[in-house]
Amino acid sequence: MILTQLYIDGQWQSPIDQGTRAILSPADESVIAQAAEATRADVRLAIAAARKAFDGPWRQTTIRDRARLLNKIAELIDRDAEKLARLESLNTGKTLTESRTDMGDIAATFRYFAGLVASESGAVNEAPHHVISRTLREPVGVCGLITPWNYPLLQAAWKIAPALGAGNTVVIKPSNLTPLTTHHFTQLVAELDLPPGVFNLVTGGAEVGAELAESLDVDLVSFTGGAYAGESIMKAATGNFKRIGLELGGKNPNIVFADADLDAAVDYALNAAFFHAGQVCSAGSRLMIEDGIYDAFISRLAKRLPRIVIGNGFHGETQMGPVQSAQQHEKILGMVQAGIAEGARLVHGGKRPAGDVFKTGYWLEPTLLADVTADMKIAKEEIFGPVITAERFRSEEEVLRAANDTPYGLAGAVWTRDLDKANRMSRGLRFGTVWVNDYHPYFPEAPWGGYKASGIGRELARIGLDEYTELKHSYINLAPKAMGWFGA
Ligand code: NAD
Repeated sequence: MILTQLYIDGQWQSPIDQGTRAILSPADESVIAQAAEATRADVRLAIAAARKAFDGPWRQTTIRDRARLLNKIAELIDRDAEKLARLESLNTGKTLTESRTDMGDIAATFRYFAGLVASESGAVNEAPHHVISRTLREPVGVCGLITPWNYPLLQAAWKIAPALGAGNTVVIKPSNLTPLTTHHFTQLVAELDLPPGVFNLVTGGAEVGAELAESLDVDLVSFTGGAYAGESIMKAATGNFKRIGLELGGKNPNIVFADADLDAAVDYALNAAFFHAGQVCSAGSRLMIEDGIYDAFISRLAKRLPRIVIGNGFHGETQMGPVQSAQQHEKILGMVQAGIAEGARLVHGGKRPAGDVFKTGYWLEPTLLADVTADMKIAKEEIFGPVITAERFRSEEEVLRAANDTPYGLAGAVWTRDLDKANRMSRGLRFGTVWVNDYHPYFPEAPWGGYKASGIGRELARIGLDEYTELKHSYINLAPKAMGWFGA
């Protein structure tokens, strides 16, 4: 049994009130760990430690020190990659192949930001000869980082690497469902020679996150999760007008035109929607198919769905694991039923798979709902599970309007061989990422984030580092003289 603790001011410790929370395996509902459950009092200690560290010698670190730190963290991730991947699969149910890929991406993220930090230098501005005018980037201060359960350590890495790289101090709170890899990551950080308080871990639920969002001693909060929590964090942040970064949900169209490479489009439609059982903020769950190929496309998907191998993420042949929690399981089944009630046609799935191994755990069949129309709840709201909703469209204008007609704007894809159409659609879709003839790739060098209700700000890329900095204009007059504006 894994037991986790809090890491505050360079010390492993139990919560003040000794609270714990059982962590369940989504594959069989067994208790895999007892995680420390912090209260607001513990969070306040962590924030105070981060504040003290930021106001102390940590401010004097150089960009070279911090680039070296991020590279060292990447080395430790590589060293423990298999251990971390196994923990991630145990806690989230995702396949080991997916978790191993995540660990590679995490190390790459730290290395990318190490390179970026090392290349940082302030700009010297044009000014009179007796003046030195510089634009400087400085750390924001204490950063509260709040992460979700679908990509626990990957989402944490997207925040920790730029936050530390820019010279901030950190209090991180992983999802209370999936704290295990962030806890192990903290053990890696504890191996390093960081001043106490630079990196702090608090585990627990919404109250712990809310304390980070409300605290007047936190200068920036970066949150990835659902819109409901995002809204309350945004409101809480007004207490001291702290900087906020929000990465929220999506309703992501995957648009297939009749002239597309259909073999590839069918295959990627599955990957877009069922990767990590659809629990991806950018999942291409809203499939939009042009009229002339609609029926054939649905038949081809219908043949492929029963062949998807559902199972324990540790088994080599498994292609899709369970969903994260009983609550998600129930919510997804409810959405499927709502779709059927509104007139969608259930082509496949919509239930727990048959067989003894699937009686416990949060299992769902890959599901296809066809003949969905844009006004249905399932075409508008995020499902966040292994469900494709398929809509028919007749023209480019119609599909563009329908795809954009959602409060969200995270990601989407277009399938066509017509480059002009690909370009028009890429420009017309109001989403933070638009793929053409592909789905899901992202790079540390490219920005990630959403338009509209999918969030505020961007992660990754240079902007993902800039979000953790303040800009200062430093002006030094080397030869001050009386000005005489108000006479002698
Ligand atoms: P969630 O909003 O329930 O929780 C996210 C985190 O916030 C958790 O750590 C949770 O404990 C904490 N939290 C909950 N309520 C809070 C509050 N009031 N104040 C402060 N913290 C609070 O989200 P989830 O269910 O863990 O994750 C799923 C959601 O995350 C989906 O909507 C998904 O689309 C979104 N997501 C977005 C991205 C992206 O990059 N845009 C990436 C992954 C997940």
